Amino acid sequence: MTEVPLHGLTDESERLAREVLDVALARLRQDPASLGGMATPEELACRVGQSITPDGIGGDEALRRWVEELGPANVAVDHPRYLAFIPHAPTEAAVVFDLLVGASGIYAGSWLEASGAVYAENEALRWLADLAGFPAEAGGTFVPGGTLGNLSALHTARDAALRQRHGKRPERWLLAASTEAHSSVRQAARVLDIDILDVPVDSSWRMTGSGLRAALEASAGEGLFAVVASAGATNFGSIDDLAAIAQVCQDRNIWLHVDGAYGLAALAAPSKRAAFAGIESADSFIVDPHKWLFAPYDACALLYRDPAQARAAHTQSADYLDSLNARNEWNPADYAVQLSRRARGLPFWFSLAVHGTNAYRDALEATLALASQAAEAIQRRSYLHLLHEPDLTALVFRREGWRGKDYDRWSARLLESGTAFVQPTIVAGEPAARLVVLNPRTTIADIELVLEEMA
Ligand SMILES: *Cc1c(COP(=O)(O)O)cnc(C)c1O
Repeated sequence: MTEVPLHGLTDESERLAREVLDVALARLRQDPASLGGMATPEELACRVGQSITPDGIGGDEALRRWVEELGPANVAVDHPRYLAFIPHAPTEAAVVFDLLVGASGIYAGSWLEASGAVYAENEALRWLADLAGFPAEAGGTFVPGGTLGNLSALHTARDAALRQRHGKRPERWLLAASTEAHSSVRQAARVLDIDILDVPVDSSWRMTGSGLRAALEASAGEGLFAVVASAGATNFGSIDDLAAIAQVCQDRNIWLHVDGAYGLAALAAPSKRAAFAGIESADSFIVDPHKWLFAPYDACALLYRDPAQARAAHTQSADYLDSLNARNEWNPADYAVQLSRRARGLPFWFSLAVHGTNAYRDALEATLALASQAAEAIQRRSYLHLLHEPDLTALVFRREGWRGKDYDRWSARLLESGTAFVQPTIVAGEPAARLVVLNPRTTIADIELVLEEMA
């Protein structure tokens, strides 16, 4: 075994670097990549054993273990027939740029240390802010995911409310969210120790202005400080009535946060833009480029109408940080629960810069059109019943006569044969099938294949 030194690019470490890059390129060349799968801890212990040893196993052997054993024990979420949860479809430009970000030694928490990276990230955030109709002073940062985005926005909202109340805390803080809101909203409320006022949804799984108003009127809580609306709730992709909700929030001086981790990507699709009317009046929103904006994991864009509120809530203060804080520059660390950070918005920025925003518009429209075709393909089959005309690209439907275990078998069969990755969901207490299309590589033939497995 030839020694690879801990640091320094020697002949040997450069050879290893090339091999790793070759593996990455080979992965990009596969079209489609193999679906992969899950192994049990026992299987992996048997096949891989222990890789970390006092003397190291060497680059060739470590890479072999990844390529032959560990890599295949992951599901390819970017496979065109990965249709479960929320799929993933990064562009090649974004993926390779992510490799470069890792090699560039950038600490992207402060402008002083990462002005070039933060400038580029802010350009990508600006594109999103413009799509939403946010004002010129709007801004924010990229965080690892929607979960941290929602948490950071809600901390900002409560901190702003506390300042408005001159520091006087209510007995319990309260936020309003619909019963369809993502689990991460509930998790953020737990972390922040906030109660949730559940707002019922209408027959299309949407929160409406009147539904919100009625829930607020019925609630005795004086600690209400925020409403979380969904722009693409995860189960059905339903979009709340943002304009009416924004009006209620304005009347009562309550922070409106819009969770669009999946759905707000469609702001860039002209055919859907009207469904998001009212987003321009929100105080903050999130959208995950690692979902429907074709970036690799992990990246959530978090935007504030008035970033000063976020700085007041999030800026960390310490003797060793105050030289940064005194400079009045755009420090991404000041807008979320984070300090050290990867410039995780850069792969998204690079792909947008390479391809242009029109290519994004076209790709989003193409997946929306495919979702309509898929809905028709479901409706054409007498044994399937569509439960909801899709607002975006989530298809939820039932197979006549199937019970929970039938959906589980369908899902297991498709994964075991390496055909597709699908997962059932629950609607009104009963199991249902759920497919989400957002990968531009997915075709109607892929969808038909999965539906035929239900015949
Ligand atoms: C995926 C999702 C989240 C959570 O985002 P992560 O990036 O997985 O943390 C939050 N809200 C909605 C609506 C989502 O679809």
